[in-house]
Amino acid sequence: MIYKEFGHTGEKTSLIGCGGMRFRKEEYENDLDKCADVVLHAYRRGINYFDSAPLYCGDHSLDIFKRAISQMDRSKIYITSKASPENTGEKTQDDMLRSIENSIKRLGVDYIDFFHLWCVLDFDMFVRYEKMGMLKAMMKAKERGLIKHINISTHASGKDIEKMLETGYFEGVLLNYNATNFIYRQEGLAAAKRLGIGVITMNPLGGGLIPRNPEFFSFLKEAADDTVAKAAIRFNASHPEINVVLAGVSCKEEVDQAVNAIENLRPVTADQLDNIKKHLTSHFNSMCTLCDYCKGCPAGIPVSKFMDTYNQYMINGNDVSAMDNQLVNLWDIPHTLAGSCLKCGACERKCTQHLPIIKRLQEIYEKMEAYHNK
Ligand code: SF4
Ligand code: SF4
Repeated sequence: MIYKEFGHTGEKTSLIGCGGMRFRKEEYENDLDKCADVVLHAYRRGINYFDSAPLYCGDHSLDIFKRAISQMDRSKIYITSKASPENTGEKTQDDMLRSIENSIKRLGVDYIDFFHLWCVLDFDMFVRYEKMGMLKAMMKAKERGLIKHINISTHASGKDIEKMLETGYFEGVLLNYNATNFIYRQEGLAAAKRLGIGVITMNPLGGGLIPRNPEFFSFLKEAADDTVAKAAIRFNASHPEINVVLAGVSCKEEVDQAVNAIENLRPVTADQLDNIKKHLTSHFNSMCTLCDYCKGCPAGIPVSKFMDTYNQYMINGNDVSAMDNQLVNLWDIPHTLAGSCLKCGACERKCTQHLPIIKRLQEIYEKMEAYHNK
């Protein structure tokens, strides 16, 4: 296992982390010890970073980790949890403090190493949470020794991540980052590096998109006998700015796959990243590169998000459910917004890829309307 300094925290975390959001339903509903065994296997393979939260796996994830932690050397591991108004319903500072205490109690520990302001979708949401006192509560919890470090988990664009990190609250950032979306988050990664903030990445397999499309993503592989899943984990792990690659594990074999993926790891070079980026954009010469130059739609349409949704549609062989997963399930953006385009053309004039945005929005609207009404 490779261990790296986590930003300026003085902690040394394993490059592969154990993500607690993908245990098997039949197991977490009937046999928590079996899930805890997977976590213990990760510990024995050298993993020291364990990521959990309320609500994961039918709200059983914290209980699974509690069983596993009781059999580990607490001083040698890092345990995380998360909370935010949108996810766990806090309305006040006191609510947030209670949520932190509740995670501590459920995990059976005295403190949590990294506590995350959970799933911040954009800078406006961050500002709202700040005004609600969520950050103040986290700082109080830190003063009281309930948490050691304050992190943020976010699905925002690179520029918004940069703004959030520049506020100075955070010592770590958890990003949804993989070979399908890394272009979108580059400024965030660069800001973390510049500010000495540790980076954890989740979802290295693109929500299963990468292993489901082995042909398309075969360019990530280094050797013919590599699997794309292994290559995708290595893609994240080879970034010097990334401290922890979370592998959401459901069985011991997946732990082994993630740990083995970083054997003989070499850092990714700027040239390699460029090549991968070119491959992604040239393979579909009409792919949105998520540069966000099209920002400022008068109808309030987040154009780059819709065009990224269309990327997923193309990568998945024109599968409408892939659009639905991204737009509606992940981002909570109603597909009907695509139908409110005023056809002013402002975004198309600014588009660096010269994409037919208006036509695509219409297509997204029609296809998703049919999908939702079938
Ligand atoms: S063409 Fe449609 S999506 Fe583009 S800026 Fe105008 S209203 Fe917005
Ligand atoms: S300007 Fe074009 S390529 Fe860039 S994010 Fe907008 S739609 Fe995508």
